Amino acid sequence: MARRRIVLIGYRGTGKSSIGKALSSITGQVHIDTDQLIEDATGKKIPEIFESEGEAGFREIEQHVIARIPSGAGIISTGGGAVLHPENVRMLRMNSFVVLLTSKNEVIARRIAKTSRPSLTGQPPEKEIDTVLEERMPLYRSAADFVINTSSTSAKQAASLILDKITRGICLPEKRKSLLAGVIKTPVPDREKVHLKKISGDTDYYLYGILGHPAMHSKSPVIYNHLFADYGMPAHYTWFEQKDPGVFLSSLTGTGVRGLSVTIPHKETIIPHLDEIKHDAENIGAVNTVLILEDEKFGFNTDWKGIYRPLEGTEGDTAVILGAGGAAAAAVYAVSMRGFRPVILNRSPERAKSLARKSGAETGTLDQVEKFSPDLIINTTPVGMSSNPHLPIPASVLKPEMKVFDLVYTPRDTPLLQAALQAGCSVIPGTEMFIHQLAEQFRILTGIDTPIIRLREMLS
Ligand code: NAP
Repeated sequence: MARRRIVLIGYRGTGKSSIGKALSSITGQVHIDTDQLIEDATGKKIPEIFESEGEAGFREIEQHVIARIPSGAGIISTGGGAVLHPENVRMLRMNSFVVLLTSKNEVIARRIAKTSRPSLTGQPPEKEIDTVLEERMPLYRSAADFVINTSSTSAKQAASLILDKITRGICLPEKRKSLLAGVIKTPVPDREKVHLKKISGDTDYYLYGILGHPAMHSKSPVIYNHLFADYGMPAHYTWFEQKDPGVFLSSLTGTGVRGLSVTIPHKETIIPHLDEIKHDAENIGAVNTVLILEDEKFGFNTDWKGIYRPLEGTEGDTAVILGAGGAAAAAVYAVSMRGFRPVILNRSPERAKSLARKSGAETGTLDQVEKFSPDLIINTTPVGMSSNPHLPIPASVLKPEMKVFDLVYTPRDTPLLQAALQAGCSVIPGTEMFIHQLAEQFRILTGIDTPIIRLREMLS
């Protein structure tokens, strides 16, 4: 029997309480129903709490209750909105198998018609299910380890399916071994080879990784593995240095790979191999995050958030983006979302024009910075990296009222940032983008919000 807790998440009417009870009676483990705990703690029924405290008040009580659930083995049925709060997901993921229960919408409607649960939107039941599931499904997917469809199963049958899956392991042993044998042949560090050999037979372990070519320069494995340890998640993150993203993705069935960070040169070429792409990634034309659940692959772009968030409080009219590649596309999107007029300046003018087609940005070459009098300059070229320690634009164009964001982060103090500081500009180092995009990616891949301060600490 599982050494870990079994946590059931999903929309109301998918069977969380009844399947929780069935799991408890089969395994003899204690069953905790968070809605029941809330009613016991407040002495009120859920509809009464919604009536008196509103949904926000209910969520606050729910968070207190979930935070106090013991971490030892047991079966936990949660309320349908428990995943709305990332702190709940952090608590529920600890030492657990998190199972997402789903059902067809018409089946859910039929089941909840028999209950007295309050409406969340004031809409007719079937419409409300569509609306709420659209908002919550991404959160359920991020928080879940696997999915069981309960549309046409009894509670007992669903409980058996869950236990069967847990007993067999979350992946097929021969598939897992073959994947990791392939990774061991790539230039991963020796200590990683030893670790991969150790875990290749452990089918309870989820895998994540950075997919790129090259990929070995990435610091993500070190950070992710620290975070998995922090959050008690049975998972490991490694390097997938692969030339063909399509061939690689098609080899993942049965391996227990749950998520990927994607880097050069695959951010655009991976798109046709995915089942669904979030609209911001589609708009930018690049995917740097792939969530995999039950063989379905969902694409996201977190690079733009890594630029957008550090620009909080930055004001001005014009943002000049130096470069016109993948990072520049994310930067154009991010500055537009902050209300700046983007201008793309690139070594090859044709590429700048091609990137500008979607956004309607003005374009030019790198020697034209002064012409646009920017309030913000973002360097998205690799100029300034340790292998190319130069300035992408002359220091003389930098003025004290400008803000300069250099996406290059090796080294941290790039020639451009040093020149900007000398000119009296305020600056943002590339490490801030790395940290903020990673925090967003970790939330998509696990449902957990990780404090930015913890990530800064790990990078320093
Ligand atoms: P990319 O798609 O290859 O684009 C590179 C861009 O830089 C192109 O516009 C290219 O111009 C220009 N460029 C290359 N070498 C140049 C040179 N010597 N002088 C002037 N322009 C040059 O690369 P990317 O994915 O956008 O990544 C670009 C950089 O962003 C990376 O090197 C990395 O440092 C940084 N980055 C940082 C983070 C982070 O988390 N901080 C995340 C992603 C990327 P042409 O069109 O003329 O070739």
